[in-house]
Amino acid sequence: MKPEIETSRKSTIISKLISTRIKLEELIELSPEEAAYWDKPGAVTNLPLKINTSYSRLIETHQKEGSVDGASPDPIRIQTVPTVHELNILPYETGDPLGEGYYTPETRLIHQYPDRILIKVTDRCAVYCRHCFRRSFAGGTAGDISASEIEHIADYLKGRPGVNEILLSGGDCLTLSDGKLASMMDSLADGQKERTFRLCTRIPVVAPSRITPELVSLLAVRKPVWVATQFNHPRELTFESRAAITRLLAGGIPVVNQAVLLRGVNDNVETLAELFTTLVAVGIKPYYLFQGDLAAGTSHLRVGLKRGLGIVKELRGRLSGLAMPVYAVDLPDGGGKMVLSEKDFLRDEPPEHSGGVGNPDGNAGSGGISGWRVFEGSDGRERFYPLENC
Ligand code: SF4
Repeated sequence: MKPEIETSRKSTIISKLISTRIKLEELIELSPEEAAYWDKPGAVTNLPLKINTSYSRLIETHQKEGSVDGASPDPIRIQTVPTVHELNILPYETGDPLGEGYYTPETRLIHQYPDRILIKVTDRCAVYCRHCFRRSFAGGTAGDISASEIEHIADYLKGRPGVNEILLSGGDCLTLSDGKLASMMDSLADGQKERTFRLCTRIPVVAPSRITPELVSLLAVRKPVWVATQFNHPRELTFESRAAITRLLAGGIPVVNQAVLLRGVNDNVETLAELFTTLVAVGIKPYYLFQGDLAAGTSHLRVGLKRGLGIVKELRGRLSGLAMPVYAVDLPDGGGKMVLSEKDFLRDEPPEHSGGVGNPDGNAGSGGISGWRVFEGSDGRERFYPLENC
């Protein structure tokens, strides 16, 4: 193991809302890759910088040696501090990597599967994650859902009794006020007791104090409600976040975790094994481990599919079924969710076969792609996912 060296130390106690380069530099000395981001014109139109006070406390204010491709080895910093690599958009990356636009019958509404809908209830988050697949929406100009938008979606639901699950997403749904959240849930539930709400939120991770007793009571009287959160590294399971989870569980709100496989953050067996076993101990079911989506400017954070499969294979040999999440990818171009395994795909194609999704000559990760894995989407059409060498 390489020795820890301190290359910069501003303070070990500074914590604050960080949304500008100046604020960021009050906390940490930027690495060359981080500094270069701010000097490029593309930075202004990219996903904004926002690290809230609570999560900024977890950033290590000194760098250690042993980084991946010269990037910071701090898993919190990698998830929150932009680098110049974000401005490198590969030909097969897009602003809508899941093809949600195909399934949007009403503003903010995504209806891809018959039994459930997803609503982008706000574009605001407590923290903007650099790996966000909805990064072209998050931190934008849409703001919170309006009363008339809620009404339109409630009307849409009236003719669709088969919809029994409503995913409140964004952005982060728990950045809405208690009052707005409650009235929206009541309009959408429309008196149907079997209609389940799934709240997709990183708030228990990044702003656990938002999980107040009042919020828990609000949710508890509107059950069935599930919380789907996103812990990506064991260091995120702080005393405060564990207490927030305990409050939710005590209120009868089950919590599941949807981790993202991220390069330099959790792309090794030890880290993921610790994350998943700790989640179970806290009372959270590890639900999904997501392969990175092909969101514009995120290739430096993705883990190659074959390497991901190798990591998951080892994890399966170590973890109980309770601790082991499902490894899955949302196929590009609206192909739907696909559970990933060594054998569940149609075939592999060489790199020069673009599969109609663009020129394969990108420099994904640290060395281009070795080909394409072809899957059958939920609509029966083929979808191509790159086999990146990283
Ligand atoms: S909290 Fe969720 S929606 Fe917001 S930036 Fe992070 S991953 Fe994206």
